[in-house]
Amino acid sequence: MRHRIAVVGGGPAGLAFARVMHRHGHRVTVLERDSSPHARPPGGTLDLHAGLGRLALDKAGVLAEFTALSRPEGQAMRILATDGTVLRDWRPRPDDLANPEIDRGQLRDLLLGPLDVRWGHAVTRVEPGTAEGTVVHGADGRREAFDLVVGADGAWSRVRPAVSPVTPHYTGVTAVETSLDDIDTRHPGLARLVGDGSLAVYGVNRSLVAQRSSGGHVRVYAQFRAPLDHRPAGTVTDPAGVEAVRSELLALFEGWAEPVRELLRHGAAFTRRPLHVLPVAHTWTHVRGVTLLGDAAHLMPPLGAGANLALLEGAELADSLAESLAADPADPTGLDAAVRAFEERMWARAARWAARTAAGLERLVSPDPAAAVALFDEVQPS
Ligand SMILES: Cc1cc2nc3c(=O)[nH]c(=O)nc-3n(C[C@H](O)[C@H](O)[C@H](O)COP(=O)(O)OP(=O)(O)OC[C@H]3O[C@@H](n4cnc5c(N)ncnc54)[C@H](O)[C@@H]3O)c2cc1C
Repeated sequence: MRHRIAVVGGGPAGLAFARVMHRHGHRVTVLERDSSPHARPPGGTLDLHAGLGRLALDKAGVLAEFTALSRPEGQAMRILATDGTVLRDWRPRPDDLANPEIDRGQLRDLLLGPLDVRWGHAVTRVEPGTAEGTVVHGADGRREAFDLVVGADGAWSRVRPAVSPVTPHYTGVTAVETSLDDIDTRHPGLARLVGDGSLAVYGVNRSLVAQRSSGGHVRVYAQFRAPLDHRPAGTVTDPAGVEAVRSELLALFEGWAEPVRELLRHGAAFTRRPLHVLPVAHTWTHVRGVTLLGDAAHLMPPLGAGANLALLEGAELADSLAESLAADPADPTGLDAAVRAFEERMWARAARWAARTAAGLERLVSPDPAAAVALFDEVQPS
């Protein structure tokens, strides 16, 4: 008997799950809201840790391709005081492969490989426990039943309500993101300032971080404490709107060294992202026929863990299901037991990371900028 398995969401969690299932010889239906892989900019750079994201890529059989694409030099980290004084200037040794960086788009393409994704398929809700199994409802009115639906649809998951009533809450910190293209030729001074990896400047209750991706692309993140209703979330691209956000940010970072403020002067669009999280140690009573992975299960502050956990969870769930299917392909209770056991492992690990990243955000955007530098010293690879 072939089990009908769907994953909602083609981000790191969903694609890692589908790709590892594919490697084990099992077909999974991938339902993705985006109309194509290139429907929106894929985002910046991700550092993938050994034992987390890189372990998942190994399970997916794409570690060698990752190693060829990744940028170990992207681990470099420079921290400045708001007056421009260099506080830390850490560069990896050539053999230092602790957390190499990869562009999010490259990672997605790597995982997509042979997978067949149903693009443009937005899920509105899932309904477990029907006579047909778990029914997935699409925005186009389509409904389809599966034995197992894996919700890997991110922060505002439409699958989550089938297992948990909990919704994300605001951390009190908002990030506004912009980017610079072709920085080495168009802004050589800023290129030198950012270096090969990341530049971070921490002030009182605010920070500016710039991160280099491949091809001379740099993402700049301004983070600060603000009420949730401060300004609407989303992307601004119209010239008047862009200039209004730019002025707001330049005022917020008034008095900071001019080369640092310069990072805000060139972006052609700004995206405002109030940072939301799920409660630390979010769990739910197991529901047969549906589970969650990644941000859908444990949204946490963006401090270098979320994509790593999402990838590993996708790979681990796939391994567990494949093992259960190999033991007895006709036994649906085996599949359910594998999901239950996986959930327990995921919850325990995610709770540790959620606590760590929540504490990290408090220190990175805090009244005491020295706390942020101290955090870097604690986690810096030796
Ligand atoms: C600015 C920023 C920087 C970050 N940097 C890092 C980092 O360096 N390292 C790290 O480990 N983590 C980082 N993170 C966190 C990381 O991006 C997330 O934790 C990770 O992307 C979660 O993966 P996911 O697959 O669970 O969800 P997502 O990446 O959100 O993917 C969800 C997918 O589901 C699709 N989807 C959503 N709703 C539906 C629906 N209703 N129907 C069908 N499809 C749907 C979406 O289109 C998307 O493709 C960062 C986050 C941010 C915001």
